Amino acid sequence: MSAAAVAPPVIELRGAALTYPGPSPVRALLPCDLTIHAGEFVTVVGPSGAGKSSFLNVLGLLDSLTEGRYLLDGIDVDALRDAERTALRGQRIGFVFQSFHLLPHRTAWDNVALALTYRGTPRRERRARAREALEQVGLGHRIRALPTTLSGGERQRVAIARALVGRPSLLLCDEPTGNLDTATAESVLQLLDRLHRTGMTIMVITHDPAVAAHGGRTVAIRDGLLSEPVGA
Ligand code: ADP
Repeated sequence: MSAAAVAPPVIELRGAALTYPGPSPVRALLPCDLTIHAGEFVTVVGPSGAGKSSFLNVLGLLDSLTEGRYLLDGIDVDALRDAERTALRGQRIGFVFQSFHLLPHRTAWDNVALALTYRGTPRRERRARAREALEQVGLGHRIRALPTTLSGGERQRVAIARALVGRPSLLLCDEPTGNLDTATAESVLQLLDRLHRTGMTIMVITHDPAVAAHGGRTVAIRDGLLSEPVGA
């Protein structure tokens, strides 16, 4: 590996596993070790039902491990209380989803600025940082547009700006191009590539091998088992 090898770890999983309880428990994630350093661009691929969402939910602090440890920026997340986990999630993780999840009656600018509201950032700073984030994704000229007047690719750019505005350690993207046509998907992937070149740590979860080709590193998941193709 390159410079990323000397960068600090953002994600460290040690014997990490997730089993959904119930009459017939589901082992969604089998025990795994994984280290992702700051500045890496990792894609996670696998067929439907392989455990990708479970993996994302763990990394995004939406679900807790049932075995092992997860350190995010060196912080042992399983030792935290719920409110602390929620705060850590808000500070360190930017989520990008397939279906954008923008508020339809608020401008692009509002959608991005609102992401800072819960942190107590003063209004003037929220507005300035939201504008900056929208400029960063190439939408500085559409900040007052409503999502309904934006194309799919532009909406996803707003969602990426919203994920970035809090300056997260990790951009966690769940099928970010799943709702986009091929050309638009490519432009969103190029945006992620550009963000990666600025040092952002990015993880993209996908079932699309073409999307997986974008990362510097690919992790495969199948029947809950993580593996890295040799030489990847
Ligand atoms: P993917 O995102 O790759 O499609 P998932 O992580 O959603 O896979 O699912 C992995 C396995 O865990 C599947 O067998 C699925 O049925 C099961 N699963 C997912 N969520 C739950 C849940 N809340 N309770 C029980 N089983 C679940």
